[in-house]
Amino acid sequence: MKPAPFSYHSPETLSEALGLLASLEEARPLAGGQSLVPMMNFRFVQPGAIVDLNRISELVGLRCDEDSISFGAMTRQRDIFRSGTVQEMMPVIPAALAHVGHRQTRARGTIGGSLAHFDPSAELSNLACLLDCEFVVRSKRGQRTLSYPDYARGYMSTALALDELLTSLRFCVWPAKHGYAFQEFSLRHGDFAIAATSCLVQLGRDGRVARAAIAVSGVSAIPQRLTSVEAAMVGCRPEAALCREAAEAARSLDAMSDAYVPASYRTQLASAMTYRAVKQALAGAVGGNSL
Ligand code: FAD
Repeated sequence: MKPAPFSYHSPETLSEALGLLASLEEARPLAGGQSLVPMMNFRFVQPGAIVDLNRISELVGLRCDEDSISFGAMTRQRDIFRSGTVQEMMPVIPAALAHVGHRQTRARGTIGGSLAHFDPSAELSNLACLLDCEFVVRSKRGQRTLSYPDYARGYMSTALALDELLTSLRFCVWPAKHGYAFQEFSLRHGDFAIAATSCLVQLGRDGRVARAAIAVSGVSAIPQRLTSVEAAMVGCRPEAALCREAAEAARSLDAMSDAYVPASYRTQLASAMTYRAVKQALAGAVGGNSL
């Protein structure tokens, strides 16, 4: 099928784009088009106007300071995946991006598009949850910064207003030598995950867990942190028992069912992915390959 008729606009500056979004009826921003265009072709969405963001250079790039990495919304997934800086500072990001679609889709797909689309199985939605993402959002009315809990409203729904653009995403950075893991199960490589777990672990001088973060996605309407397990892990030795406890917590998440995957299978997979992710992150934090 082909999309319903729409007017096409290609602004060169952010303020021009915001002006168009404020004035045009049923306008939608276009980023990499890897989700929006298929949805338009299937007529799931029929925007009256498309505001193409691909010529707005101020939305591209990454900026680091000692405790965060900020990405412009139009930064391509491929450029983040291949960035030496990102690999060095937060290796969990490229580890997760390796599972996003294919090289071709990552070459066009953007970080802002993925987080605006906000598929609960998207690897970047998982990372936004894991890394306490701050979403910088702008419209003609002004700018606001949203935390992950304020931004993530429900299944593929966010706090973004129709005339607002995501302009940048700020991910927390952990100190060097932290352990990390991203584990997912999908039917084929390049498919969206059925369930995925990311994990970060930092050890204290005493060799015990000083800090942990675990995000599970694909199971509920939005990716979730296993906060009680994270707190319970602090002060513990990096042992296999921690993996089992985390896996149990993942199994108790409220899971969704759909035509393809029943809730029981999702939680089974989430439990397995969580066990593997916590085990891999603990081993990494200890500096070895196995616990
Ligand atoms: P677009 O498709 O251009 O836009 C997506 C939505 O976000 C639209 O509603 C658009 O209006 C809105 N939008 C875009 N930018 C902004 C902004 N700055 N502010 C506000 N709203 C905005 N994704 C995964 O996570 N994992 C996968 O495994 C995966 N597999 C894929 C396989 C295939 C074959 C394809 C075609 C896609 C796949 N994707 C997957 C989706 C891909 O990652 C998309 O890049 C991503 O979902 C959307 O990014 P985009 O830049 O293409 O956005």
